[in-house]
Amino acid sequence: MQRFREVGLEPDKRRGQNFLIDLNLLEILADAADLSERDVVLEVGTGLGSLTALMAPHAGHVITVEIDKHLQQLAMEVLHPFDNVTLLGQDVLKNKNNLHPTVLETIHSELGKSPDRQLKLAANLPYCVATPIISNLLSTPVTPVSMTVTIQKELADRISGRPNTKDYNALSIWFQCQCRTETLRVLPPSVFWPRPKVDSAIVQIVPDPEMRSRIPDLAFFHSFVRAMFFHRRKFLRSVLLSAMKDRLSKPEADEILTAQQLGPDARAEQLDVDRMLALCEAVRQQVEPQHPPTPCEG
Ligand code: SAM
Repeated sequence: MQRFREVGLEPDKRRGQNFLIDLNLLEILADAADLSERDVVLEVGTGLGSLTALMAPHAGHVITVEIDKHLQQLAMEVLHPFDNVTLLGQDVLKNKNNLHPTVLETIHSELGKSPDRQLKLAANLPYCVATPIISNLLSTPVTPVSMTVTIQKELADRISGRPNTKDYNALSIWFQCQCRTETLRVLPPSVFWPRPKVDSAIVQIVPDPEMRSRIPDLAFFHSFVRAMFFHRRKFLRSVLLSAMKDRLSKPEADEILTAQQLGPDARAEQLDVDRMLALCEAVRQQVEPQHPPTPCEG
């Protein structure tokens, strides 16, 4: 806060600039990430470099990404003593569905320096782009072994949402089908400067290779689940037919739904992860080798 005043800067709300001002909480986040020499840490949102400086002494390497030119300058002053920190001054995303290639190349290059190295995401994420960051990281070939992040509590609730609740959606299934997730701490607005309007949470998301191996085609499943929740209140049959237009006939769809014991009034929000996986696999086997369902907003 003081540093901002000294240099005459105002935090930019559009960029999710809410800084954790409670040092204990930054330490809790860094400790939970459980860093060691093996770890290449990706931090999104360097800010003033406070969390970066806490993590760098424990990690093999920290790649920290900051979009704001002014903050990059200020962070460099804090981070220049560390020779294991790479500060990338840019947007972490290329677009909503992809991380920026420079970020991916830097991760590849650092991981390539030793076969022991592994990737971890540890960050107080900018809330405006938290969802694409964590969900796209699960689709890249360099999936992190853990993601320890501060996010909006609402997003944390969606990630761990259960069937038949308002929090349950495509994102819940995308995370629960391949990760173990835990909310470590709920944070009130008062621990940030400036204060956000909503509660936040420190969560830990641990991708589980065994769970991932149950899904024969992760990209197909991702698109399928998003398509099934595109109209969450509509009956599954009509959502399925419109998502699989020209690829699945009505009798084929009915046969699949009956075999899955899904009646005409079934909705996507009623299916737990296992049932959604089974439905997706039945559909995939019917429509393959054609293309995955058209991706939609989810
Ligand atoms: N790590 C610092 C901390 O804990 O105090 C800052 C965290 S602050 C919540 C989020 C930071 O992410 C801001 O500094 C913001 O400028 C940066 N940011 C926002 N959107 C970004 C993007 N698309 N790519 C990279 N950095 C971004």
